Amino acid sequence: MSKISDPTVFATGYGNLETNTDASASTSRSRMNPNQASRRIIGSFYSALLQLGKYDLNHLPMQDYPTWARRVVHAERKRRKDKGVEMPTRSERRNILDFGEGIISQPNGDQQGSVGDDQQQLTKQKKGKAPKPTPEEFDGEYLHTYVIDEVTYDVVYDKTLSRTDGTLTKRNSNVWGHFVCKTEDCGERKWDSSVIATNLRFCRPRKAYKVTLHAQKCNQCEQYAEPIVEVTTLVKRVVYVLDLWMGFRAKEPRKDKEIKSDGPHDTERCHGCEVNECPYAERE
Ligand SMILES: [Zn+2]
Ligand SMILES: [Zn+2]
Repeated sequence: MSKISDPTVFATGYGNLETNTDASASTSRSRMNPNQASRRIIGSFYSALLQLGKYDLNHLPMQDYPTWARRVVHAERKRRKDKGVEMPTRSERRNILDFGEGIISQPNGDQQGSVGDDQQQLTKQKKGKAPKPTPEEFDGEYLHTYVIDEVTYDVVYDKTLSRTDGTLTKRNSNVWGHFVCKTEDCGERKWDSSVIATNLRFCRPRKAYKVTLHAQKCNQCEQYAEPIVEVTTLVKRVVYVLDLWMGFRAKEPRKDKEIKSDGPHDTERCHGCEVNECPYAERE
């Protein structure tokens, strides 16, 4: 457990997590960009996850993990929810690794029944094609397994809910977190932000929602960098707003949501500001 919660395992290899260590593999790993994991690394990571009990699986430091690792954790949590604690079948394992690698867009495409037929159709079409990375914004599907643990009603995650759909209920929020620029020039340049723009969309009739996290441009290389937020904080925020919209909670006075007026928010480089999904931009 302690080893898997150490994010450096992503950069330095999994030799110590594996029963079968492979010297040549760890050499190539150490040179890798941790965000672009090979199938072998994803597989090793998944094998390590399978050793974890439910509690440990639900308390991983997700905020320190690269996107592929969060996808694998999300998929495994979902699998255990659906299938219980048995070990995965060969095809389940393949699906989860495909999902981690970004080859398919759903961890278990056939289990999205509650989302409706249209969504299923879409999932099938997308299968086999690697989804294009969207460097300026990130989908928050990995939050869903946490959200459904917190809410007392049925909600589904639908990553196709569109920004331009006027029928959806929407809310922008800021969360604390940091950005990491991983371009070759910047290495792992990191900066904190109190205004990471997030957007929540909700389709009331279908009880479907989607969370978008907006990237910010690095002020050294002007490339977008991925926002890293604390999962529990963002989940709390999402659940609070969903509760309000579902009529399960009365509005509370905002406390932590106030944005400091003197906060140096770099609106020029915030993708949320660009697409009007940043609470900072809303104030003006
Ligand atoms: Zn940079
Ligand atoms: Zn902004």
